[in-house]
Amino acid sequence: MHPKIWLSSPHMGGNERKYVTEAFDTNWVAPLGPHVNGFEKDISAFLLPGNGNEIHVAALSSGTAAIHLGLILMDVKAGDEVICQSMTFSASANPIAYQGATPVFVDSEPDTWNMSPEFLEEAIKDRIAKGRKPRAIIPVHLYGMPAKMDAIMQIAGNYEIPVLEDAAEALGSHINGKMCGTFGVISALSFNGNKIITTSGGGALVAHDARIAEKARFLSTQARDAAPHYQHSHIGYNYRMSNICAGIGRGQMEVLQERIAQRRANFEWYKNELQEIAGLAFPATPEGYFSNHWLTTVIVNDDSVDREKLRLALEAVNIESRPLWKPMHKQPVFAGAPFYGDGTSERLFEKGLCLPSGSNLTQQEKERILKEIKAVF
Ligand SMILES: *Cc1c(COP(=O)(O)O)cnc(C)c1O
Repeated sequence: MHPKIWLSSPHMGGNERKYVTEAFDTNWVAPLGPHVNGFEKDISAFLLPGNGNEIHVAALSSGTAAIHLGLILMDVKAGDEVICQSMTFSASANPIAYQGATPVFVDSEPDTWNMSPEFLEEAIKDRIAKGRKPRAIIPVHLYGMPAKMDAIMQIAGNYEIPVLEDAAEALGSHINGKMCGTFGVISALSFNGNKIITTSGGGALVAHDARIAEKARFLSTQARDAAPHYQHSHIGYNYRMSNICAGIGRGQMEVLQERIAQRRANFEWYKNELQEIAGLAFPATPEGYFSNHWLTTVIVNDDSVDREKLRLALEAVNIESRPLWKPMHKQPVFAGAPFYGDGTSERLFEKGLCLPSGSNLTQQEKERILKEIKAVF
């Protein structure tokens, strides 16, 4: 059997071990410490180059925790409604349920595969007409491709609804230089093992207002009031990032630009090598948009080969690929949640496949994948 080729696996740069060792040597083996502070500064400097002190980061245990705290800080409560992109990973929507609120799902548009501004506005108008004005909007930048943020922010502003930006897949992506992770009132990043950089598991809440990031740090460390004893006037969470994980993160930040270049090169390589196969189509990038191409995705549109046939053929030779995210309005757990759209995300799910996209793929592995794909067609 051939060795396994993963969809997206961790790729260390080299200095991660040095930072982790430093954490051990200084006994900062805790959910706080110098690496946590340093990692937060590294992310701020990356998101707003030259102006890092204008954006505030709270390093957390996961991207899901960042979205959850984001909703809490936007005061989303039981019985509220929150608009969420339907085509996404469940972690975009689960925190809405943690709050006892109801997700209202919005379809994708065909250019970026992300939240359709048109259906977003339709959803807002209809919910308001029903006396249920949404409390927040969660757009996502799938596979690194920025959503149509100009239109989404405009609509959100018109109706005065805050945007919680799920940038978990889009660290390093931007629109005309404005980084994903800086569009929302609050934004969420993820450093899970499969993301473009990883802390093994981790995430961050990003905010333009320093007080929001400070509150996130407070809530993430059990909401302890300033007192010598344990005194609490808020419900707290244990969501802070550990100094060990942040040490890995500091090493990963040193190679982030390289990782972005490698992921983008994967996309260009696949696109170039597979261009003669008429049954495969690669997504186009809108003018002014820059995707980190976290995962290379392809639409399978062939008379004799469908997405599942291609996926199973790759699986048979130990190559991992995966269908695009199944829309949340089609998930049993969210059955009955309101949905606004025209079926775009369902069609994408039916025909779309994510190809192995690790920044650590070797040329030999890439040639093997190519050979297998060509053999199927
Ligand atoms: C990975 C991911 C998350 C969750 O991040 P975790 O760090 O795994 O909790 C949220 N949203 C999207 C779109 C993701 O891809």
